[in-house]
Amino acid sequence: MKFTELNLTEDILSAVEKAGFTEPSPIQELTIPLALEGKDVIGQAQTGTGKTAAFGLPTLNKIDIASNLVQALVIAPTRELAVQSQEELFRFGREKGVKVRSVYGGSSIEKQIKALKSGAHIVVGTPGRLLDLIKRKALKLNHVETLILDEADEMLNMGFLEDIEAIISRVPETRQTLLFSATMPEAIKRIGVQFMKNPEHVRIAAKELTTDLVDQYYVRVKEQEKFDTMTRLIDVEQPDLAIVFGRTKRRVDELTRGLKLRGYRAEGIHGDLDQGKRLRVLRDFKNDTLDILVATDVAARGLDISGVTHVYNYDIPQDPESYVHRIGRTGRAGRHGQSITFVSPNEMGYLQIIENLTKKRMKGMKPATAEEAFHATKKVALKKIERDFEDDNIRSNFEKFTDDAQKLAAEFSSEELAQYILTLTVQDPEMMPKVEIAREKPLPFKFGGGKGGSGRRRDDRRGSRRDYGDSRNRDRSRREFKRVSNKNRKDFENKGNKRPHRTSSEKQSGFTIRNKGDR
Ligand code: ADP
Ligand code: MG
Repeated sequence: MKFTELNLTEDILSAVEKAGFTEPSPIQELTIPLALEGKDVIGQAQTGTGKTAAFGLPTLNKIDIASNLVQALVIAPTRELAVQSQEELFRFGREKGVKVRSVYGGSSIEKQIKALKSGAHIVVGTPGRLLDLIKRKALKLNHVETLILDEADEMLNMGFLEDIEAIISRVPETRQTLLFSATMPEAIKRIGVQFMKNPEHVRIAAKELTTDLVDQYYVRVKEQEKFDTMTRLIDVEQPDLAIVFGRTKRRVDELTRGLKLRGYRAEGIHGDLDQGKRLRVLRDFKNDTLDILVATDVAARGLDISGVTHVYNYDIPQDPESYVHRIGRTGRAGRHGQSITFVSPNEMGYLQIIENLTKKRMKGMKPATAEEAFHATKKVALKKIERDFEDDNIRSNFEKFTDDAQKLAAEFSSEELAQYILTLTVQDPEMMPKVEIAREKPLPFKFGGGKGGSGRRRDDRRGSRRDYGDSRNRDRSRREFKRVSNKNRKDFENKGNKRPHRTSSEKQSGFTIRNKGDR
């Protein structure tokens, strides 16, 4: 099916085309016609299946831009998801001239009020802030014709039910209501009964729980050794873009601090960070000025990030669904991804519970030694030097240092100078700053699931060799020198060592249903 068969107006279709969408996704194909007919719709589909456009396109289609009133309201669970939806709606409505505003807590309400005053056809917001704005009479809902509950399961998980009900009660009864969710617990069905008019139910079955494109590994490691084990593996694997999941906010903070201390370009996100900071981190991650995003499950939920090559589960998730969701952040858009889960000995039982859900075994991975890590970073550094010497742009800068270089050359041997350069660029494992990560309470001991399961792994999983796969041959040139010592880091970054930005078309091709985790 083509988007052109969907009865959308020209200006919307043209924006969809410009976004590089060729075909509607299944949830879009089924819900857009219903929504265009004015029906109430409940749409259920996995994360990453295009639910935003599913409600967004028909909603935009209906907006009358001759009027300056708020005609559609989208309620979203988190600030990030609100911003993400706002951006997507803006993108498709720009040609038509639709004004889309997002509002959320943790950010100046005055500014948001001003933005609303300057005109809004569609408002996307988190429940608390929406209520605030309604109470202050800065947001009027009496002309809302379309009400959308996005990521409804997530909103309920976060305890927003009452807020949502309060908001719904202020929207005219004549409205059309659309509800989208990845899962459909009872409480959501109840909302459907209570607040919707004969809703049409559309459910796209989850294709697969995990993708074949993700190579899943586990590393059995003592709690106290986890951090060093992880950074060594990062050095050996040289991920392009990685997400590290931690169990708690404190964990995320500590991991981020530790990674930065060791020279990685890492930042963390979790619910306690202020709005601006979280958005900045996500933007940096998407723009490749960050290589490692450290996150809690909640903070990473539903976020649309493409190009993640590695997922590190610093803590094994207690809930197997979270695991599926976490590793679904990689292995997208037909590209291979890798997930590595660190499991402390008494948590081994959880591995089997996860495998029972994914129907796939994780392979054991041997931790890398300090030497291996050192070797790997050295190799990257050497290759980088070679490449730089072939780069005329870089060489042309050499001249600036001719005099100083001559002085140095007179004083030290070329071997000494080369050694010095390497000590600046390759971190010596001996000199690595110590990082202490506070102990989190481990998960309660659990025997492996399944019949007669025991907490022990079977022998075939032990001592398997580290699987280098094709990652060993992968072109590493794009992320070289990310681990230069702090002192020199700025310089290297300024010398064009950033990876090329992923183009937006690449990003769109990241749309795939098969590769996403279900919740
Ligand atoms: P969900 O809300 O179901 O988790 P999103 O609406 O966030 O999913 O969409 C995930 C990604 O897929 C976004 O980057 C979006 O732009 C993209 N996308 C949505 N629909 C299509 C489509 N028909 N073709 C290509 N990409 C799409
Ligand atoms: Mg969504």
